[in-house]
Amino acid sequence: MDQPRAGTHYPRSTGEFQAWFRSDADCLDYLAWVRWPGGFTCPSCGHAGGWRLGGARYECAACHRSTSVTAGTIFDRTRTPLTVWFTACWLFATQKDGISALSLKRSLEIGSYQTAWAMLHRLRSVLVRPGRDRLAGTVEVDETYIGGEELGLRGGRARGKKVLVIIAVERIEPRGFGRARMALLADTSAASLRAFLVDNVEPGATVITDGLQSYRPAVIEPYIHDRLVGAAGPAASKLLPGVHTVASLAKRWLLGTHQGAVDEAHLASYLNEFVFRFNRRRSRSRGLVFYRMLELAAAHEPVRYRDLIANPEPRARVPLPPRARGRPPSLEREPANRPWRTDNLTHSA
Ligand SMILES: [Zn+2]
Repeated sequence: MDQPRAGTHYPRSTGEFQAWFRSDADCLDYLAWVRWPGGFTCPSCGHAGGWRLGGARYECAACHRSTSVTAGTIFDRTRTPLTVWFTACWLFATQKDGISALSLKRSLEIGSYQTAWAMLHRLRSVLVRPGRDRLAGTVEVDETYIGGEELGLRGGRARGKKVLVIIAVERIEPRGFGRARMALLADTSAASLRAFLVDNVEPGATVITDGLQSYRPAVIEPYIHDRLVGAAGPAASKLLPGVHTVASLAKRWLLGTHQGAVDEAHLASYLNEFVFRFNRRRSRSRGLVFYRMLELAAAHEPVRYRDLIANPEPRARVPLPPRARGRPPSLEREPANRPWRTDNLTHSA
């Protein structure tokens, strides 16, 4: 598989990003190229080959159904111009701490907070790639609480409610950390701990935990258990420095970038965003992260606004569906040369 190249397949810098995506049509063409790198493939019948009808639509050469580039992706039926989407995606992928809905609303002249909020949640929803690699090697695992006094999660029964979260971090010898995973945990039962491990840690890994009893039946084959007997509470955090570091960085990020304005129902997707960025912290090219995100977005089924409101119970501070929202203005610039078309990239979807 060819690797996408900086400067041809994805922009190297913000300046290059602006030069490439000067119009909504440029964005649409890039999205079509990301979605069908080898040329149009019909989503209805699977036939490879067809022609562009103009605008966003393509017609299949076999079944003659027409399809829009954005149909069946997270950009399905969007009223937000693609220049605005691309800029949001660029900021999301390239800013060290991401971007809050409020900043996005202000910087891109998006009419309502809800629209900006929903855009960021649609981007978050593509981050968890099915079948992604699990953590391997030596992995620290521990639970923590997020919320409480310092971060009053919204949507709970009471402000100050704490949510149980489990963290796993690869330990790199002699020092340092690799990738991380975080998830909400219903309880500290062996079954809940085991389910998290199976989803997130490769068989054969050495799993380091504190002395909590329920880890004993949870960390059995195919894992090797390194249980720090007698260690619990603050003492354990020194023995599990990876999870301790990730927990404090995540809490600081929720308080900083998002000012604690995170409702409990969406905490899991914020943690996914944090982990996505943490695991790419050493990536030399932020542009590549942008490209990978668009690849995921083009392959991800549409996410409806009602699906983003995870909790059906009406709650005062969960954003309401936008009413008569305005279409944000396009960020169009003068047309550019579409350099990704000058050199074809063959890669698997
Ligand atoms: Zn077809």
